[in-house]
Amino acid sequence: MIDKSPKGTPETWANQAMKHLQEDGLEPSPDNFAVYYAFYADTNPNLKMAMGALIDQYGGLSQQQCTELFLAHLSLEAENKMLQTSSKSISDEIQNVMGVLEKSNQDSTEFNQTLNSFSGTLQSNVSLDQIRSAVSRVANETRIMAEQNQRLQAQLAHSTQELTEMRYNLDEVRKASLVDPLTNIGNRKHFDIELVRTVAECEENNAPLSMLMCDIDHFKKFNDTYGHLIGDEVLKLVAKTLIENLKGRDVIARYGGEEFVILLPHTSVQDAERVGNQLRSILATKQVRRRRTNEMLGVVTISLGATQYVSKEDTDSFIDRADTALYDAKQTGRNKVVCR
Ligand code: GH3
Ligand code: MG
Ligand code: MG
Repeated sequence: MIDKSPKGTPETWANQAMKHLQEDGLEPSPDNFAVYYAFYADTNPNLKMAMGALIDQYGGLSQQQCTELFLAHLSLEAENKMLQTSSKSISDEIQNVMGVLEKSNQDSTEFNQTLNSFSGTLQSNVSLDQIRSAVSRVANETRIMAEQNQRLQAQLAHSTQELTEMRYNLDEVRKASLVDPLTNIGNRKHFDIELVRTVAECEENNAPLSMLMCDIDHFKKFNDTYGHLIGDEVLKLVAKTLIENLKGRDVIARYGGEEFVILLPHTSVQDAERVGNQLRSILATKQVRRRRTNEMLGVVTISLGATQYVSKEDTDSFIDRADTALYDAKQTGRNKVVCR
């Protein structure tokens, strides 16, 4: 059995990561190493839990499991790096545009000087030849100026396109960073943002706001009996049930391993309790199936804690109350909603 304690130094975590990579027969590639390192250094709670479950079940990871863990939990970190690269590209592009504008400013100042000297020439007593030569100089400068303007326009159009593309990429990264890759619903960060927004909105409109904290019952047993991949199917099934049966303005997020949280704006705790019980009974009609064989593996149940926001309280005590209500539901038999 692998030691899962998070104590140590970067050096000991790296050593542990290398040692266990070898024991599991995996290549010490950067992605594989990142997964094992994150596990031993305990830098990513969801990865820690999911990988812990795999180790408990199989004693180690296969290459496929390791890749899946990387994609599900660490590719977001890679996306963050891309975010940094993108913002560097944007500032480079802006520097570029500023340079072009400065150059164009210099050119037009020089052009102005040429025009001034031309008008000076015209005001003095000059020969026809001198006028011809001055006109030809001005015509030449005008042509150069027109060409430069065209180049400037092309450069600006190019930069605009680059910036639009980068903004699109950044938007995509930002959206991806708020979604849980396994269940496709919002993650904890999404919930934190939405919590602040819904509290403000309900305070402003003097409307009730409720929270349902849900946790799958005996999920560990399900995982242990049927394997981690079926466990993942259960998580997807629960997430899908929540999405299909809640209103558009409700906020749904995966709060942690097998915990989900729902924010119900404009909803009293009595109504939240009703919603929770509805979700429970809908879930009770759904069989978990083994994809390949369509074999029915039984139903899962959830326990829920419901609570209503108290005006002016901080969001932590709102969450704590929902947590306590959930704890009460677990302690008093599971598969039920308890209100606080
Ligand atoms: P309870 O009814 O008290 O909630 O019992 P439980 O077994 O559901 O709760 P416990 O906290 O003991 O176990 C939760 C399990 O969820 C342990 C962990 O292995 C598993 N888990 C967490 N995240 C994932 C995941 O992403 N995929 C899978 N398959 N399992 C996960
Ligand atoms: Mg549970
Ligand atoms: Mg739990």
